[in-house]
Amino acid sequence: MLDERYVSELVASVINSMNSGSNGTSSKQKGVFATMGEALEAVDKAYRQYRSYTIEQREKMIAKIRELTLKEAENMAILGVEETGMGRVSDKIIKHQLVANKTPGTEDLHPTAFTGDRGMTVVEMAPYGVIGSITPSTNPSETVICNSIGMIAGGNGVVFNPHPNACRTANYAVDLVNRAILEAGGPENLVVTVEKPTKESSNEMMKSPIVRMLVATGGPGVVKALLSSGKKAIGAGAGNPPVIVDDTVNIYKAAGDIVAGASFDNNLPCIAEKECFAFANIADQLIEAMQKQGAYLISGDQIDRLVKIALIEKDGKYSINKDWVGKDAGKFLKELGIDADPRLIICETKACHPFVVEELMMPILPIVRVTDIDQAVELAVKAEAGNRHSAHIHSKNVDHLTKFARAVETTIFVKNAPSFAGIGAGGEGYTTFTIAGPTGEGLTAAHSFTRQRRCVLVDGLHIV
Ligand code: NAD
Repeated sequence: MLDERYVSELVASVINSMNSGSNGTSSKQKGVFATMGEALEAVDKAYRQYRSYTIEQREKMIAKIRELTLKEAENMAILGVEETGMGRVSDKIIKHQLVANKTPGTEDLHPTAFTGDRGMTVVEMAPYGVIGSITPSTNPSETVICNSIGMIAGGNGVVFNPHPNACRTANYAVDLVNRAILEAGGPENLVVTVEKPTKESSNEMMKSPIVRMLVATGGPGVVKALLSSGKKAIGAGAGNPPVIVDDTVNIYKAAGDIVAGASFDNNLPCIAEKECFAFANIADQLIEAMQKQGAYLISGDQIDRLVKIALIEKDGKYSINKDWVGKDAGKFLKELGIDADPRLIICETKACHPFVVEELMMPILPIVRVTDIDQAVELAVKAEAGNRHSAHIHSKNVDHLTKFARAVETTIFVKNAPSFAGIGAGGEGYTTFTIAGPTGEGLTAAHSFTRQRRCVLVDGLHIV
């Protein structure tokens, strides 16, 4: 854990160096432009140069991005927390390490071939061109770096329009990516952004003929806007992942896994456990085991008071109070007059409670008792709300695992591990921070950012 004084000193030094220009002031940051028009012009030029680069050169650039990301993970984690007021520095460092180590590069591009009596046909994965990418406030630098690696591996240029509340962090990452590209002998401004992103700059980017593909990572609003753009679009939308616990597992381990996943970066990740459905015959044991592993249990009137902090009610409808997204559990407890600093707050609620229904992105996990797997699956599918994003289960019963997986139809389904195993942290498989449920690409990587092109030679090059 990082101590608070050290963190504030480091924040001051990162911000100071940005302002003094040693990392480049915003206007001197590489790839960061005052207007979207300038950014588009620059990336268009860079992409044309990039077309002549080899795959080996792409890999050199990506290797350098990985190296600098590891080196500057702490800076970006601190800046992200300082700018957005959300999340935990220690967890954000892990997220950057994951991006650096496990985002696929050019090895993700697999050409295919057909050979036979009439010759040989190959299908290669070609660049789209310049890709427009809209990124969220919850993983500002992680998404920029992850998408940059995948998009560059696919042979593309990228223009970002980051979340306005997280643009200093996102732009730091754009500068880092450009520094890495230049150090590895790549072109200037292959990845660009605007200093102060707005809705207007986003619209300009979406409409520009320079941009051939759009990728949005965020809530339902942005995915909808993207899908009405008339361009090829990848939409990575919101989730509200349920986790089921039945009575066949080691309850202590399940409890620890859920606390780890639901509290990670204060529950900001779209894949994080956001409500728990526990078999009634093990619920007490599960709650006790969670309390022993970093969770704080609240009840009765405390829950009602927490609702008033975390949510805003209007005409009987709830929406999240954005001021409280990604805040530490201890801050919520302080408002309730409790002096404690746990990783996670837990409470027992009904399935229709707003803590279950809303995607809180706060370290608060409601737990609902269920009688059997049928009720658990029914309520969990309802809570997931058709996002088809992520769902998790702790069970040794193959029928239970299968039933839930088939019913919930999510892009990610983690069994017997914390949710982050779904993006390669402690589980097999690569990492992404752009999980495309609505448009179906799933966990995006270099291959998602390519066009398949077929090249046919008749009556030749078939050697059998
Ligand atoms: P957000 O939807 O508020 O913002 C995301 C991005 O979209 C920002 O850059 C924002 O400026 C832009 N945006 C929002 N509405 C827009 C519109 N109508 N037109 C154009 N641009 C628009 O989300 P956030 O609070 O930054 O991030 C949290 C949300 O993102 C959660 O719902 C979370 O589940 C989701 N998320 C999804 C993934 C994924 O891979 N599927 C990853 C991270 C976050």
